[in-house]
Amino acid sequence: MTAPAHAGAPTVNEVVADRSFFGHPRGLRTLFAVEMWERFSYYGLRPLLILFMTAAIASNGFGLDRTTAGAVVGIYAAGVYLATLPGGWIADRWLGLQRAVWWGAVIIACGHLSIALSALFEKKAFFLGLVLIVIGTGLLKGNISAIVGDLYPEGGARRDSGFAVYYMGINVGATLGQLVTGYLGEKVGWHLGFGAAGVGMLIGLITFRIWARRTLGPIGTTVSVSASETAKARKVTLAAAAAVVLVILAGMAGLYSVNPVAIAEYSTNAIIGLALAYFAYLFIFGKLDSDERKRVAVIALLFVGAAAFWAAFEQAPTSLNLFARDFTDRHVFGYEIPATWMQSVNSIFVVSLAPVFAALWLALARRGISPSSPTKFMAGLIFCGIAFYMMLIPADIVIASGGVAKVSIWWLTISYLLQTVGELSLSPVGLSSMTKLAPRRFTGQMMGVWFMAAALGNLIAGLVGGSIDPEKLDLMPKLFSRTAISLFVVAGVFAVLIIPIRNMMKTSSAVDH
Ligand code: GLN
Repeated sequence: MTAPAHAGAPTVNEVVADRSFFGHPRGLRTLFAVEMWERFSYYGLRPLLILFMTAAIASNGFGLDRTTAGAVVGIYAAGVYLATLPGGWIADRWLGLQRAVWWGAVIIACGHLSIALSALFEKKAFFLGLVLIVIGTGLLKGNISAIVGDLYPEGGARRDSGFAVYYMGINVGATLGQLVTGYLGEKVGWHLGFGAAGVGMLIGLITFRIWARRTLGPIGTTVSVSASETAKARKVTLAAAAAVVLVILAGMAGLYSVNPVAIAEYSTNAIIGLALAYFAYLFIFGKLDSDERKRVAVIALLFVGAAAFWAAFEQAPTSLNLFARDFTDRHVFGYEIPATWMQSVNSIFVVSLAPVFAALWLALARRGISPSSPTKFMAGLIFCGIAFYMMLIPADIVIASGGVAKVSIWWLTISYLLQTVGELSLSPVGLSSMTKLAPRRFTGQMMGVWFMAAALGNLIAGLVGGSIDPEKLDLMPKLFSRTAISLFVVAGVFAVLIIPIRNMMKTSSAVDH
């Protein structure tokens, strides 16, 4: 399928040769801005969810118990990341990347509108909104990252640098989103916070409309399958969409009810099973040569590391969010900051530390030390493990007071700092490792596998999120120590395997190992 020629739109060569955005193509500015606003809305809404759902009916919340609310957040966040698999498939076979991003943005905006309308229609509109955001983000998130890659057909350091700029955009959006919607949602009214997240997505949508054609030209407007395959993909997608609509309508009509905790537990096992089956399939039927087998084995190991890491790290909107609300003295210069503001600490650290990390990897490389990706993952897991282990101290202070003491805000701040150091050693490294290690014909699927690890981590983080509860204080140290120990155990597995992997990869064609 060829792209329609747009009058005035630049050609592919003009787009990729452009250097007018800090030395990068202007198209990156478009993607930076759109993804910034999308993450503004995503991270703006997410921490409000558990606070709103657990708030008493008298405070205009749903009055749900913490375990159920934590599970809903886990299912939601896991859904968002899992949906990138079908979202990528639809873009590859039918819509093309640009149109997938556009429709994704439209559906997300509708989702936010629906959530804002839950002021009138309560639970139905609220949960419908969450489902729409999952579907829309599935179409947007992976595909917009793929367009970033397409801006640098030559790959290499310039592409890495482009991704670094883009990762900053993600976190600028996250920071602003949490500050704005957190303040409005907690201090003014829940639905104002929800509405602000929606306005952010609307700005992203309009930005894409105005800038995409002019700055991205034909990039991401074509698909590389035959017209008949496109027609088939359209049919399959529309049939699936119809099935989803039916399920939603049946749920709204009260034909079935769901138990979020049971679903979250079931999905956790289902994703683990899916991942095992997928890797087994690749090894048995994937026609991998011996070099590819080695690389896929490393990817499988990185998958385990990433899932363990996200299961801890993604507790920010669940358990650590509740810890901020219930057990943290949030007075800064005499003003009590909203609990959700603590969510921005991580993204502020990412924005400020990302350049430090870029310099660190370069400085190490100059000294002839280039840590392999499993080594960087191990470091990431250890830092995150320490971040949770240290939380045992404030947990003890709270327990010793019978649950009434509020601990210093520094505990969470330092924990988030350590988690961010872990994130920067693992997350961008993982993304680029997937593209480097994946056998060429499986690149897209391997990105899906990467997000599958994030989905699994989010589910687990949601399931354990309810463990922070003034009524059940003894669960808190158990959660922190179990999280830390799991991270240390997985880091230990990496430590044992680093040398054999290095030897094994010496004969591999993959650049990074
Ligand atoms: N914080 C990053 C983002 O929002 C990574 C999230 C993830 O992969 N789990 O894109």
